[in-house]
Amino acid sequence: MAKCSICGAEAIAYVPYQKRYYCSRHYAEFVEEKVARTIEKYKLIRRGDRVVAAVSGGKDSATLLSTLAVLRDRVGFELVAFHINLEIGDYSQASQRAVEELASRLGVDLIVFDISRELGFTIPEASRRLRRPACSICGAVKRYLYNAVGVELGAKVATGHNADDIIGFALKDFAMGDYEGLSKLTPMVEGVDGLAAPRIRPLYNVYEKESFLYVLSKGLPYIHRDCPFARLTSLEVQFKEFFNRLEESRPSIKLGFLHHLAREKPWRLGEKSYTACPECGLLSSGGTCTFCKLTRRLTGEARGRRVRVRIKELAGERGSMGLG
Ligand SMILES: [Zn+2]
Ligand SMILES: [Zn+2]
Repeated sequence: MAKCSICGAEAIAYVPYQKRYYCSRHYAEFVEEKVARTIEKYKLIRRGDRVVAAVSGGKDSATLLSTLAVLRDRVGFELVAFHINLEIGDYSQASQRAVEELASRLGVDLIVFDISRELGFTIPEASRRLRRPACSICGAVKRYLYNAVGVELGAKVATGHNADDIIGFALKDFAMGDYEGLSKLTPMVEGVDGLAAPRIRPLYNVYEKESFLYVLSKGLPYIHRDCPFARLTSLEVQFKEFFNRLEESRPSIKLGFLHHLAREKPWRLGEKSYTACPECGLLSSGGTCTFCKLTRRLTGEARGRRVRVRIKELAGERGSMGLG
């Protein structure tokens, strides 16, 4: 049985690009240090910042919230978790339970936004009525709510995208010629005053497998199932698999790829002109924003403005960020 390279206890994992074995305690520390270095290197979080962690209930969001909770005192920032109950049946109920248990165990305030209660529709219903794929509606709703919570709380929004996710997105954007999308796949996307909250990706250098082993090594609650709408044959997934095969013969090739993606930004386009949505006042690529259009079609009313007020109320109820 292999021994931990640090303490000699029984090892649970081997990290090929370090040629090191780790016991569960030291494995957890290895991942936490990886996140700490990413935060420092790319200046993702500074002392005194507020950070809202978007938590779905899956393993990556558990890794995100746990590593940030560990680093909160060391760096000196405020942390709150934000969960959207998407009302996709049992899957959503199980996700919310996992997030509640996680947040309470880590001592982090949690805000839950239930889309059925707050908006009056569910993702499957919206998908049927608008004849659009569930994932595209879900993505638009999530993007809007994450941004709204960041702007309302004056916080940076941290998402749990891991290294493999970023690589999958990057290769897909490259393949589709979406260079603007590609240029945004940096560890941080700057905010626009009053319109868009800064977005950060603290797990930028954490491999999917590492995130999984971290959650196991700490015994964190998470939902094991994938979203029922997830497509296992999507282009991103196939690109991820391709890079994982490369990584087997060339350990750390993924880290190298991300290093260039993060720093060189060769495909960044010039400054784009941003506008405010006339309905809700948040970022729009021109005219009424996607969320206000979508909610108007589904409910007869553009809901952005009301959602912003509601998020502030929910944060107040939780006593989060001194708004209580
Ligand atoms: Zn050890
Ligand atoms: Zn709007």
